[in-house]
Amino acid sequence: MPGPTLLWFTHNLRLDDNPAVEAALEADQLICLFVVEPSWFRANRYSLHSLGSHRRAFLQQTLDDLNERLKQRGQRLLLWHDTPLESLTRLVQLAKVSRVITAEHPGHYERHALKQLQSRFPHLKCDAISSQTLFSANQLPFELEQLPESFSSFRRKIEKKKLEPNTPTIAPEQLPPPVPNLSDKVVDLPVSEMPSLFLGGETGAKTQLDYYFGGELPQTYKETRNGLDGWDYSSKFSAWLANGSLSPRRLWHRINQYETEVVANESTYWLKFELLWREYFQWYGMRFGAKLFKLQGPFNRSPLTSFYPERFKAWCEGTTPYPIVNAAMRQLNATGYTSNRARQLVASAFVHELGLDWRYGAAYFEQQLIDYDVASNWGNWQYLAGVGADPRGHRKFDLDKQTKIYDPDQNFVNAWQGKEHAHPLPNRDYYDWPVA
Ligand code: FAD
Repeated sequence: MPGPTLLWFTHNLRLDDNPAVEAALEADQLICLFVVEPSWFRANRYSLHSLGSHRRAFLQQTLDDLNERLKQRGQRLLLWHDTPLESLTRLVQLAKVSRVITAEHPGHYERHALKQLQSRFPHLKCDAISSQTLFSANQLPFELEQLPESFSSFRRKIEKKKLEPNTPTIAPEQLPPPVPNLSDKVVDLPVSEMPSLFLGGETGAKTQLDYYFGGELPQTYKETRNGLDGWDYSSKFSAWLANGSLSPRRLWHRINQYETEVVANESTYWLKFELLWREYFQWYGMRFGAKLFKLQGPFNRSPLTSFYPERFKAWCEGTTPYPIVNAAMRQLNATGYTSNRARQLVASAFVHELGLDWRYGAAYFEQQLIDYDVASNWGNWQYLAGVGADPRGHRKFDLDKQTKIYDPDQNFVNAWQGKEHAHPLPNRDYYDWPVA
């Protein structure tokens, strides 16, 4: 008789429309695991933390919500505090696991851990199942190695084929029983008191789905999406999509439903257009792996860059000479979220005005963003730094012009005190030489 199945939850923290969970239904006994990695709480190579307080609070809510749902189906979520490889190895040995199932993910480290596990236990069945993208690899109209080098070309290929994601499935009513006598190896995530409008877990995702599609917001998305402050100008689904408490196919399906039952217009199309951006970056991450973090990007372009610690500090704290950048960084630090427009402006200032190494900006976003997603974050940063999927080379935004267009009455800059905190650049370099 085969041993139990181990379902390793990573960035797919839901039961709704979750093919990895469905694959686990065949098991006689099931272990549901989430690994809390010690490295999340240590300084990384950028002297930053990969899990900041906003996302930590959101993750804790998400795990509690998932555990509740598992309990209703006769299961429970085991939390282990170790590296994924060590946690999986020990559980495989302890419970004589015969199969490991997880979600396919562009994260280089997650994929590497699964490969190493497979080489430690050659007879173990290991499956990474497509759960976080609209399409699976075999639905794409090209091989992964032939992924188009620009988003536009990717989108055109998808649209030409009229590709539609498969219909989402609903959560199973019951799950295979747990393996008895296995206990958590973790204290709770260090508590974070950050207040947030984002409520973690499937419960929060469903509330936002019902709110957003319950009224007229999807009909005006294209006109409002460049907003800088407030809840309604964009959909805010990114945080739930990032940790997988919302399925991208479920979201796509809700847009389709809205188009059939209420209205289909340019705005509803644009929401799908943006979800295709997300999709593109997921496959980009899957294709390029560790090159997502490389200074020169996957195509070996050489950015002109340097590192000025004081400028980096000013950018992080929102004390640069640029009021709109300060406002956005202050909003990000206080809430864990800032709009797409603001992300573009602060990233452009980071690279082009401050002359900094884009990877530090990406690492700071990783720490601060409630919706941090490895592929979308590092992919967008590469794009803006001119080393990624952008045929135009690099994107430099004129900050004054952008402020006039998107914040004409300075409401955003004033609300986040961007002007009050504007200071000239500290003009010393790394070795304490004054610089022009
Ligand atoms: P909406 O405008 O309502 O868009 C709907 C959905 O489309 C989003 O939830 C998201 O899933 C997707 N989407 C929209 N724009 C993009 C884009 N440019 N790239 C990828 N997906 C997109 N998004 C993340 O989810 N996680 C990140 O870590 C992240 N880092 C970013 C870093 C930089 C430098 C930039 C410029 C953008 C980044 N984005 C990231 C993309 C985008 O800013 C956010 O997805 C968006 O602001 C989230 O808010 P929303 O859900 O209201 O978006």
